[in-house]
Amino acid sequence: MAELKFLTHSTKFKCMRCTRCCSLDVMLSSMEIRRLGASADRGWRTTKKSFRGGRLVCSLLDGDACTIYKERPMLCRVFPFIAIPESEFLETGFQVDPEAIRVSAPDNETYVIIYDTECPGIGEGDPPDPKELLDLTIRHLREMSETEPAGK
Ligand code: SF4
Ligand code: SF4
Repeated sequence: MAELKFLTHSTKFKCMRCTRCCSLDVMLSSMEIRRLGASADRGWRTTKKSFRGGRLVCSLLDGDACTIYKERPMLCRVFPFIAIPESEFLETGFQVDPEAIRVSAPDNETYVIIYDTECPGIGEGDPPDPKELLDLTIRHLREMSETEPAGK
């Protein structure tokens, strides 16, 4: 399992368009499934995949470009980051990096942001906006909470 890393003030990110994350299963809300229509795999609640270059990739990928970039699912927007309530780590006794940036949600819950260390864009570019990452995560969670069980 990859090491858990937290967003700090020294974290930088720029998408290198390697398309690695377009092979992952992006969890879609009901709203996103409806919007994607035939491009959504309703059973697995993700985008449909096709074989390309010996690997499964999202069928919405054309070369190294997302064909629905401006309308891409919430998890594609937030990747390689995701915000998690700090209380979830505290409850399990997991040691949160003391330098992790803490962001307050509208309900005053404090979030920290973790990221996928295998994303080659980490360490490139500029520091990401923690507030924007939290907003995207909360929008995703809200949409998922309104989502019907798989297959509906
Ligand atoms: S894995 Fe990282 S660098 Fe590669 S396309 Fe996804 S976000 Fe961009
Ligand atoms: S919707 Fe776009 S960004 Fe998301 S996995 Fe598919 S091609 Fe990649």
